[in-house]
Amino acid sequence: MADAIEANAQELIQLLVQEQGKPLEGATGEIYGTAAFFRYFTSLNLDVEIREDSESRRVEAHRKPLGVVGAILPWNFPLMLLGFKLPAALIAGNTVVVKPAPTTPLTTLRFGEIIKDIVPAGVVNIIADANDLGGPLTQHPDIRKVSFTGSTATGKKVMEGAASLLKRITLELGGNDAGIVLDDVDPKDVAPRLFQGAFFNSGQVCAALKRLYVHESIYDEVIDELSAIANETVVGNGLEQGTKLGPLQNKMQYDKVKEILDEARDKGTIAAGGEVPDQPGYFIRPTIVRDIEEGTRLVDEEQFGPVLPVIKFSEVSDVVQRANDSDYGLTGSVWSTDLERAYDIANQIDAGTVSVNTHAPLDPTIPFGGSKMSGIGSELGEEGLKEFTQLKIVTVARAGD
Ligand code: NAD
Repeated sequence: MADAIEANAQELIQLLVQEQGKPLEGATGEIYGTAAFFRYFTSLNLDVEIREDSESRRVEAHRKPLGVVGAILPWNFPLMLLGFKLPAALIAGNTVVVKPAPTTPLTTLRFGEIIKDIVPAGVVNIIADANDLGGPLTQHPDIRKVSFTGSTATGKKVMEGAASLLKRITLELGGNDAGIVLDDVDPKDVAPRLFQGAFFNSGQVCAALKRLYVHESIYDEVIDELSAIANETVVGNGLEQGTKLGPLQNKMQYDKVKEILDEARDKGTIAAGGEVPDQPGYFIRPTIVRDIEEGTRLVDEEQFGPVLPVIKFSEVSDVVQRANDSDYGLTGSVWSTDLERAYDIANQIDAGTVSVNTHAPLDPTIPFGGSKMSGIGSELGEEGLKEFTQLKIVTVARAGD
């Protein structure tokens, strides 16, 4: 399947740009990344582990397939997130029913056509819907596990839907991820990485930097550097070379981000961007909002769009508490030239992934999952593979036991 994705990469990239809106560069990374994720899972195995082999008994841990897995996906990385679930579920011996988001089914359906002669019939099934099959799929008695990526609100419905049959669930949900920039960084040095962490895929990333806390001593400089990058960013048609950011993917998200932006105009100061160009397509320029605090939608909620609040802080103990004061806990990052100090602060952030001087790097070998209302369980890595299995212990008592 990885070979087939790569052999058809150019077609899949073009299709992904057209249905999702992300520019060619991001789509290229997503398609080749998906192939790499498929390959990674083939390097893992689920051999029987011998837990005890003594005179009295032998205890083995087996990892058994669950059966039919439902994989439900959002619209921000349609194929990449399929690469988190499908290869792991198959390697573990399951069959899968995949349901892409209603606004991004095309690349996934085309992927299905491409692989249809590679896997036996019925092993990979892809259904498309009008946002009405997620519930029935979750509740279907033949589905033994639901691996869901999407919003926290829908994740709760998945948990409810799975409850009556006690199905296994993995929930990868929303985030409101904080970055903390300490007083010792060079603003020019960190700004491009902070910008990328916040605005990649027009901010439509579960693990994007969604609140940036900057120490008061460098606050103005960091804002200036981020604003300069925002102002020179090319926003437009993803199929055109040179475009860095595309539109919001769908009208619902576009309307939500515009509402949040409108409130932020009153409660904060727009340092860069803020324009919603009067042109076809759901475009919003990358926007930096300063002089804004908690108690506003932009800071308290998951904006999932290209609008970043930059919040001033003076005390580290206070900023850690503010970063953690959220129902979400997906990722977080700390930025400093003093690695020990940054590491200590990163360890105090309540999130599934924390990082120092980088924001939520993605790698198929490293498990990814949220704390609090950002999710249950994890994907990727060996942990992600095991989520598609049932642990079964086999004990053989020896003579004289
Ligand atoms: P969403 O929750 O609206 O939809 C996700 C999927 O759930 C879609 O396929 C949808 O059709 C389906 N669905 C709708 N109702 C359902 C129901 N009752 N039961 C089961 N499935 C149902 O999310 P979205 O707007 O497509 O995606 C954006 C959200 O996804 C953001 O909150 C983002 O943070 C999150 N996300 C999380 C991760 C992660 O790994 N943690 C990754 C990407 C996106």
